[in-house]
Amino acid sequence: MSKHGISLKNIELSFGSVKVIKNVSIEINHGEFFSFLGPSGCGKSTLLRLIAGFEHCQKGQILIDGKDITHLPPWKRKVGMVFQSYALWPHMTIRQNIEFGLKEQKMPQKEINYKVDKVLELVSLKEFASRYPNQLSGGQQQRVALARTVVTEPKVLLLDEPLSNLDASLRVEMRQELLSLQRELNLTTIFVTHDQEEANTTSDRIALLKGGIVQQIDTPNNLYDTPNNLFVANFIGSANILKGNVIKENNTSKILISDTFKIPVKTDILGDCSILLRPHTLEVSTKDDCHLEGKITNKEFLGNMVRYFVKVLDNELIIDSIHFKSSALLDIGESIYIKTNEDENYILKNE
Ligand code: ADP
Ligand code: MG
Repeated sequence: MSKHGISLKNIELSFGSVKVIKNVSIEINHGEFFSFLGPSGCGKSTLLRLIAGFEHCQKGQILIDGKDITHLPPWKRKVGMVFQSYALWPHMTIRQNIEFGLKEQKMPQKEINYKVDKVLELVSLKEFASRYPNQLSGGQQQRVALARTVVTEPKVLLLDEPLSNLDASLRVEMRQELLSLQRELNLTTIFVTHDQEEANTTSDRIALLKGGIVQQIDTPNNLYDTPNNLFVANFIGSANILKGNVIKENNTSKILISDTFKIPVKTDILGDCSILLRPHTLEVSTKDDCHLEGKITNKEFLGNMVRYFVKVLDNELIIDSIHFKSSALLDIGESIYIKTNEDENYILKNE
């Protein structure tokens, strides 16, 4: 695959007898903003620490720009890592914090000053250079941590939940800053997060992990639209999933839900399956033009849309209905007919 970037090849890692990374292979392109996404404990940080050289795998190979770095110590990997806790030196000014790594490399002071000035400009902290970390806001400290890493000109930037210590609105702002910094430097970046919105809004591609196993590597929209399995379907976005049996009648496929309802689908799969119905693709309809029937058990008015919770057989489905001033809301307790969208319906094998 791509020579420039990061290759993880068949990585396995155990802590004692517990295998936490299971045969992971990922190819990350040069300049890509790539995320490791998944629930807590799925192995995201461990994978990142493996690339940084803080952990060592029992099996597999890691390449950066085509060079095997599997057995190199961290300081020889040309990798920059930013931690969740920014780990700034409290007794050093911002400038001293940022230049620390360059001084360690015994770089001439003139060159250090030039590089630090440039990076201070890049993260808009020029006027804060002589302050101490505790005189900065959380977002500014985060930028110092980033500056301190990128000033060393790593080949790869590794970010482990770098925004999780910030409050919600700052997180949204910082993720865009992070992305524009990454684009400006054209720096191959791996971003670890458990927050799918953070991953979706920044990433070129995402690897979704569960229990140390890669479930799918794809663009944010492909993960949402064409999930590989039920875990991915459930993890990304809101999902209505109904179990059923797919049959073919007169060349068209349908899924039978508990003998009661038939939903038309476009698929080559037959037999025991599940159907994924995204909430915004369901429509309230009429008796002669419906695929499902149910009863509204709850509703949430969200301004641009109304989210209805609807009991269908033993399932609770979500219907997200776009709201207009002119449209009346449905009532809790009301029985409704539901139409699905054949082009949007997605069939998945049961596991
Ligand atoms: P994530 O970052 O996705 O939340 P981690 O990579 O931190 O997950 O952890 C993956 C699994 O490995 C977890 O079950 C965790 O408890 C375990 N683990 C992580 N570090 C160690 C360690 N040093 N020793 C033993 N188990 C560990
Ligand atoms: Mg982690």
